[in-house]
Amino acid sequence: MKTEILITGGGLSGLHTAVTLHAMGREVTLIEARSRLGGRILSLAFGNVYFDLGPAWFWPGQAQMDQLIGELSLRTFPQQSEGAALYEDENGRILRMNDSPIEGAYRIEGGMGALISALAERIPVACIQLNSEATHLRKTNTGVETTIRSNGHLKTILSERVILALPPRLASGLSFEPALAKPLCSALQQIPSWMAGHAKFIAFFDAPFWRAEGFSGSAISQRGPLMEIHDASPNSGGPYALFGFVSIAPIQRKVLGEQLIQAALAQLQRLFGDAMRNPLACHLQDWAQDTFTSTELDLAPLNYHPRYGYSADTFDLWDGTLLLSGTETAEHYGGFLEGALDSSVRTVGSVIRDR
Ligand SMILES: Cc1cc2nc3c(=O)[nH]c(=O)nc-3n(C[C@H](O)[C@H](O)[C@H](O)COP(=O)(O)OP(=O)(O)OC[C@H]3O[C@@H](n4cnc5c(N)ncnc54)[C@H](O)[C@@H]3O)c2cc1C
Repeated sequence: MKTEILITGGGLSGLHTAVTLHAMGREVTLIEARSRLGGRILSLAFGNVYFDLGPAWFWPGQAQMDQLIGELSLRTFPQQSEGAALYEDENGRILRMNDSPIEGAYRIEGGMGALISALAERIPVACIQLNSEATHLRKTNTGVETTIRSNGHLKTILSERVILALPPRLASGLSFEPALAKPLCSALQQIPSWMAGHAKFIAFFDAPFWRAEGFSGSAISQRGPLMEIHDASPNSGGPYALFGFVSIAPIQRKVLGEQLIQAALAQLQRLFGDAMRNPLACHLQDWAQDTFTSTELDLAPLNYHPRYGYSADTFDLWDGTLLLSGTETAEHYGGFLEGALDSSVRTVGSVIRDR
């Protein structure tokens, strides 16, 4: 098969690039290793409502997100922060906090997955190949030949250009012919994949019991197993939910299994009262166990936001026929959804500059 531009990775960055280049009349093929688009964006259906297991927030002033949400006519609402936020110290002492730890963040109605569904509608289904994992890239006289593993079979796609819209650590694990220079490979491995080592726990309830008690649903805890908790309910109506980021390291999480879920529920009960004891259901999304997000290097989760913002030249390889993209390569807002779009805009700019 031949295509002009092969985009590898159907997260927000790769999908946005594919949609933008398609709208400019370029011939694009988007391959995605998973059976779904979205990458780190994943919204779980519970009843008729979608809950975010990956990113949930964007912030005013993130220009690319504002523009895209406007273009796609998506509705947004502020993160629920009315009521008292709580702080739990390592001994389990619970205090009320004066400020909300998450005021100012916004969410999308229908979850972040709505952004992906609306974007995907802007490109013909025939341009997208799911369950298609790029494994090997070979530089040719006219561009790049990519080997793809799809449903147990190998196939190749020839293209004038390949865009790898993946975390750099995953990109560095692919096989390249000629091989990437060692210093470049190790530089790519040093770039952390934002939130890749994290896990999100979510518990669903038929009423927002915490709000009735005067709590916002937000809490910061030094005791755990959830280190930061927030209200994850839809804008209006139920089901209602609280989510928390897990503070326990990935290897321990794997061993703990159901025990971790019970400890998380016990923590919600400690913080917000006995009504938390019987959720309708709960779910643990462990991104560290997901090989299309996380590598061994991400198993030590970051508890700070790294400085990204590398020079764009770092990601322009093989005379411009191989471009690295994705949020970790963004000049601005690296790691965030805004960074995924920033990297897409930069990558599209490189493609059209070269023709
Ligand atoms: C738990 C969590 C919470 C977060 N919260 C927020 C938040 O509130 N706000 C915010 O701004 N950001 C948040 N983030 C970060 C945000 O999710 C990312 O910035 C964004 O989704 C990255 O998009 P991307 O397209 O660059 O990468 P990804 O979403 O990682 O997309 C890469 C894609 O490439 C695919 N792929 C990988 N290898 C291959 C291969 N060999 N062949 C083909 N396809 C491949 C993957 O399956 C994936 O679909 C959060 C992330 C997590 C995990």
